[in-house]
Amino acid sequence: GGGFQGGGSGGDDEGELSLRPKRLAEYIGQPKIKERLGLSLTASKMLGQALDHVLLSGPPGLGKTSLANVIANEIGANLKATSGPAIEKPGDLVAILSNLEEGSVLFIDEIHRLNRLAEEFLYPAMEDYEMDMIIGQGPSARTVKIQLPRFTLIGATTRPGLLTNPLRDRFGIHEAFEFYGTGDLTQIVSRSAGILGAAIDESGAEQIASRSRGTPRIANRLLRRARDYALVKGDGTITAAMADAALKMYEVDALGLDEFDRRFLRTLIDKFDGGPAGLETLAATLREERDTIEDVVEPYLMMLGFLNRTPRGRVAMRGAYEHLKIPYGKGPGL
Ligand code: ADP
Repeated sequence: GGGFQGGGSGGDDEGELSLRPKRLAEYIGQPKIKERLGLSLTASKMLGQALDHVLLSGPPGLGKTSLANVIANEIGANLKATSGPAIEKPGDLVAILSNLEEGSVLFIDEIHRLNRLAEEFLYPAMEDYEMDMIIGQGPSARTVKIQLPRFTLIGATTRPGLLTNPLRDRFGIHEAFEFYGTGDLTQIVSRSAGILGAAIDESGAEQIASRSRGTPRIANRLLRRARDYALVKGDGTITAAMADAALKMYEVDALGLDEFDRRFLRTLIDKFDGGPAGLETLAATLREERDTIEDVVEPYLMMLGFLNRTPRGRVAMRGAYEHLKIPYGKGPGL
């Protein structure tokens, strides 16, 4: 993968300056999620119970990890973070679970990539705070139940559809993230600029926000690039004109599409006559991983109405042609 759209959750924060919100009140946007979670948090405190397990789904960079940290802060609990691929065998999970403190939060990123064997150990742990451990081997093997501290599991996934039903059903709270609107992203950019000590005016923040693919992680990255640009080429203040010039340099267009987004659409239109084209074929042609295309590139293009996923493959829609200034309904050479 090219890492063109910000990649994983590493590297978001610059030195000691954390851009991650700490409390629910600082968490910008996703109003429905905030309202429902805030309610469950208050209820769990009133009941004196651990918060139900929470499943957060949505494209990368929308704030799932940040929200997990916010939840732990609101509970006043420790957060232990791991990921599906990091848990290679059930023993890894046993070690993590048995070391949790009472009331703590366990965050498992990319939970759809947890292996099946480990997943089955998770079921009784989630349901009854119990775990079956197998001691010994062969005919002398026996199972012992171990009692676990009460904990809240927060799972994050870019692909809720890949979770098995038994796992999905054990989460009491499901929240799906949506792309952020320009208003919310403008607030996020202004807040981040404040933390970074970068001077920005409202129109500069709006300029960056409207070209960030609805994604806070991208907004924060573009903000840093615009800050650099304004420092070197201007007087350090990120105005709309400065932001626009910086984004042009990084080939981010008026809708926030980057070089790869455009290459993806252009390939679909030019080489496959607008589709339908299979994801595998497209991925091979573009020399990009299919997961990256499916999880990172396509969701935003679909949100814009530029792309459709059909049973026969990907199809470029009229809006994509118009945006790329390609006459609609005409294949190559016609
Ligand atoms: P995900 O886990 O969904 O990939 P993250 O939680 O890592 O996304 O968010 C990426 C970055 O975007 C974070 O470092 C944080 O600074 C910023 N961010 C995400 N959501 C918000 C939000 N609602 N308010 C403010 N900043 C946010």
